[in-house]
Amino acid sequence: MDRWEAIRNKQRQFVKERDWERFHSPKNLSMALAAEAAELMEIFMWMEKEQIEKLAEKFPEKFEHSKQEIADVFLYCLRIADVLNIDLLAAVEEKMVLNEKKHSIEKALELNKSLM
Ligand SMILES: [Mg+2]
Repeated sequence: MDRWEAIRNKQRQFVKERDWERFHSPKNLSMALAAEAAELMEIFMWMEKEQIEKLAEKFPEKFEHSKQEIADVFLYCLRIADVLNIDLLAAVEEKMVLNEKKHSIEKALELNKSLM
């Protein structure tokens, strides 16, 4: 068993022990995922770029909090994929290939120029 499977199995056990499977529809889980993403956004809200760049050094409590919220987002992604019987790693790999096709280096660099 790899680390990925171990995390998924631990999450399955966590959910089962609490009898939360009945609540874990893709609809509910996607809403929870959005809420966790908003919690992550809230940490950075009103912070300047320079502050965020030194987050771990200057704002260690915010840095720790951001780690927790990123983990929450990841865990909901993992759970939704599990409920829908999606191989999340394979889906990520497939999406990265699609992104490479959709966002060619040439087009991206051209777009960057227009944004600067
Ligand atoms: Mg959270």
